[in-house]
Amino acid sequence: MLSVREATTAYQGLVAISDVTIDVAKGEIVAVCGSNGAGKSTLIKTIAGAERPRSGTVTFDGEQINGVPQHLITARGIAYVPENRRLFPRLSVEDNLRLGSYMYRGKPDRDEPLKLVFDLFPRLSERLEQRAETLSGGEQQMLAISRALMTRPRLLMLDEPSQGIMPKLVDEIFQAVIKIRDAGMTVLIVEQRMAEVLEIADRAYILQTGRVQMQGKASEIATNPDVRKAYLGL
Ligand code: ATP
Repeated sequence: MLSVREATTAYQGLVAISDVTIDVAKGEIVAVCGSNGAGKSTLIKTIAGAERPRSGTVTFDGEQINGVPQHLITARGIAYVPENRRLFPRLSVEDNLRLGSYMYRGKPDRDEPLKLVFDLFPRLSERLEQRAETLSGGEQQMLAISRALMTRPRLLMLDEPSQGIMPKLVDEIFQAVIKIRDAGMTVLIVEQRMAEVLEIADRAYILQTGRVQMQGKASEIATNPDVRKAYLGL
């Protein structure tokens, strides 16, 4: 479904990812892990069209999308939840969700994605009138994911959804990712919490200083002795 081939992305000459090749098949949950500054966010931004690769290609459903403006990439079925969530803080939960549904390219039927959102995150349905800025960090992340779901994506990309969130809600969010996949979507998730994300992912890539250092089945990466020592502190 998604194929990144030898992508190199730089900021003012400083290379952040270098010759990165990854594949995501329909129905998979794929994790991208690695320490601070490894280039995880840059990779996801390169796919979302927020950054343009200096070289290499990004293909979605067989069509090249690098160079396509970000809003048109969203319209093709890729939703991206950035690290800082970018909610509309003064707007209510309901209005944030409504703005997500305007990004949908087809018939504006809000009922079906809303049903999924309320099923995933019942606490949002109890807070429809609440302003987004008054939600807890975990609830804001849930809202950001939900807003992305309102665009009815085929591929959902999450950048560090666990950041700044208490463990109980992190677990809730990771369980929601499984349900999102079970509802027919494909998920690419960037995470520093490697032990937890490897439990829900099918496959994973580890980035180190902008390059793919390791890739494979999540279960195999989680039990790899080098990974356990270097990243899991075991
Ligand atoms: P983190 O988990 O800390 O967010 P990351 O793995 O997501 O890290 P990136 O944010 O992709 O890593 O950063 C990769 C490199 O690119 C870093 O050296 C970072 O300083 C640099 N970088 C990221 N964004 C920019 C930018 N807008 N301008 C200049 N350099 C940047």
